[in-house]
Amino acid sequence: MHGPDNPPNRDGASRRRFLQRLSQGIGAATIGGTMLPNWTAYSKESAQQHGKKLGFALVGLGNLSTHQLAPAFKNTEHCRLAGIVTGTPEKEKLWADKYGIPKGNIYNYANFDEIADNPDIDVVYVVLPNFMHSEFVIRAAQAGKHVFCEKPMANSTRECEAMIEACEKAGSKLGIGYRCQFEPHNQECIRLAREKAFGEMKMIEAGFGFTIGNPNQWRLKKPLAGGGALVDVGIYALQACRYLTNEEPIAISAQETKTNPAKFRDVDESLCWTMTFPGGVIAYCSTTYNFNGINRYTAYAEDGWFGLDPAYGYGGIKGQTSEGPIEKPQIDQFANEMDEFAKSIFEDRPIKISGEEGLRDVGYIESIYKSIEIGKTIPLA
Ligand code: NAD
Repeated sequence: MHGPDNPPNRDGASRRRFLQRLSQGIGAATIGGTMLPNWTAYSKESAQQHGKKLGFALVGLGNLSTHQLAPAFKNTEHCRLAGIVTGTPEKEKLWADKYGIPKGNIYNYANFDEIADNPDIDVVYVVLPNFMHSEFVIRAAQAGKHVFCEKPMANSTRECEAMIEACEKAGSKLGIGYRCQFEPHNQECIRLAREKAFGEMKMIEAGFGFTIGNPNQWRLKKPLAGGGALVDVGIYALQACRYLTNEEPIAISAQETKTNPAKFRDVDESLCWTMTFPGGVIAYCSTTYNFNGINRYTAYAEDGWFGLDPAYGYGGIKGQTSEGPIEKPQIDQFANEMDEFAKSIFEDRPIKISGEEGLRDVGYIESIYKSIEIGKTIPLA
């Protein structure tokens, strides 16, 4: 299903050919990781009672929960959909019937805190509009649950810090929903970058955008979304530059264009920004809510290049290097990231995409907006 974070691919025919080749055996679907070495680190009885699968409660049953997350549980090894939290009473029976969710595991936003007394729920997964992330992450931590939170982590660094603090205080793990780092083509590009397969990286071009529809939706209201295209999808390009370089930017400079000031009165429509990295890489990035087609990154190195186009969708990721295609399986990225989170809990090890990681991106987003506001480069080092 197309939508935010998963726009239609530019080249539908070649995508179909690519998927056809996959179904012919060039890379079968694979999900999840290896057997867990150490279950004893995870002491909560509930997980063990349920065949070592963690019980997740989805908070917010909108598009992502309905079309991606709920169906993804069947592709996980270590997670199960155990509960829901919704502000729409009509959804309760619908979801209970479809996913066999017991009445006692259904909450609304008002009685959500009672989840503290429910041993069947191990993880609260926050899938609400961005302005609600901090409140529900903090309430989930205070209820003694581990928390997984969709991107962007929150609407400000201040909120992110409060979320991290609440989770630390409660002894809860906090993970952020950056699925691309669990996707094999992206992982291959990270490997090529780390191993300097094409020599020292010099430059990255990265961009992600799509045409946003309904002008009345929360994504176009700054108090609810925190920003526009940048916080919603530009964040993927920002992340890609960081995971390819494995460095933090030392300077950011940005420009904005608005062709529809009425629709984008509150939030950014189209942005370009550059980031310089300490190792010498310069990244130039773009994002938009005004047209479909940008969904890519290319890293240029001394002896060649590599990249993905499309790079960030739910499937159909395609990779290419100066020496030939990147052939990797298409997987269920949501299942993979949830399994990774579950394994970090079972093995009591640090979360791969932690709250600190989400906080960093929100900080760089603030610097991009600041650069536009004052018309200057923002030094970060
Ligand atoms: P959505 O608009 O489809 O769903 C939002 C849900 O929140 C709805 O069920 C709605 O009823 C509920 N809600 C509660 N209070 C609300 C309010 N005041 N205003 C509007 N809705 C309210 O959104 P979505 O696309 O499911 O996105 C939810 C979150 O997931 C966002 O943070 C988004 O950035 C993130 N997301 C991530 C990905 C990804 O690939 N990781 C993809 C899409 C969305």
